[in-house]
Parts: sequence; C-alpha cells; structure tokens
Amino acid sequence: MLLEVYVYSKILILRFPKTEVQKPVVYHLTKDFDLVFNILNAAILPRKEGVMALELSGTKKNFKDGVKFLKAQGVHVKNASQEIKRDHNKCTDCGACTAVCPTGALAVQRPEMKVIFDREKCSVCELCVPACPPRAMEIRPADRALFE
Ligand code: SF4
Ligand code: SF4
Repeated sequence: MLLEVYVYSKILILRFPKTEVQKPVVYHLTKDFDLVFNILNAAILPRKEGVMALELSGTKKNFKDGVKFLKAQGVHVKNASQEIKRDHNKCTDCGACTAVCPTGALAVQRPEMKVIFDREKCSVCELCVPACPPRAMEIRPADRALFE
C-alpha cells in the first residue's frame, strides 16, 4: 500500500541561507505537501549556512510542489547522487520541459524562443527527462562529494 502512495523518492542535499537555518522549513514539507522525509545528515557550515541530506518521498506532484516551496524560501536543492545534462544536438527547443520544471532551471528565452538550461537552478528531480520528446535531458552520476 505504501508503494502506491509514495511512488517518488530522492535523496536531496539542501543548503539553507543563514536567515532560514532556524525556521522549520522541512516541517512544512510534511504538513503542507504530505511528503515523508528522513534526515540522513545535517550540519551548520562556518558561514552559518545549514546543509542537510534528506530522503524525501511522496507523489510526483507533491514532490514538485515541495521543491518549489523550498526554492521560494531561498533553499538551494540538489539531488545527492545525480546530475542532469542536456544534449544540445538533440534539443529542438520545443519547450515541453519548461512546463514540468519546478525550479525554473529550464525556461524559454524571449524573443529568440530558445530554451535555456541553468544547471545552478536544477534540483535533479528528473521530471524533465520523460517529458522531453527527443530524450535530450540525460541523467548522469554527480561528481561532487557530499559534505566536503
Ligand atoms: S531535473 Fe529537469 S525538471 Fe528537474 S529541476 Fe532539473 S531541469 Fe528542472
Ligand atoms: S523538452 Fe527536450 S527538446 Fe524540448 S526544449 Fe526541453 S530539452 Fe529541448
């Protein structure tokens, strides 16, 4: 039964600006978005920023809305183990991926109507991968260590 409800699960790295460290931001993921979280590691960095590794599970829609909420609070969100890469040779600038991207990492640039991909904004939620008709969005292992 649990599998039917919590179909989507990712390990994320959250970086909190020092203004947000004391706020119960993660609590809202459960309360407002019906997501289940499991904190795997957490630390306060020397510059008073917070960093947290957590496993987040829920429906795809709630996951997307929860990530949007985190970004709106100024939290930097990254998938712990993977990165997203765009194959420019395959991309046709159709814009389909921009409709599903919760962080604004994929956006239409006007007036050229080119689809730009800002990797810094990408949370590696992978929602764009199946949404892309020519499969231009690819998942690859991340090369950055956690809590380095
Ligand atoms: S994985 Fe795709 S949909 Fe998700 S944040 Fe990154 S670019 Fe947007
Ligand atoms: S859905 Fe795929 S082909 Fe279309 S703009 Fe996005 S990356 Fe490019």
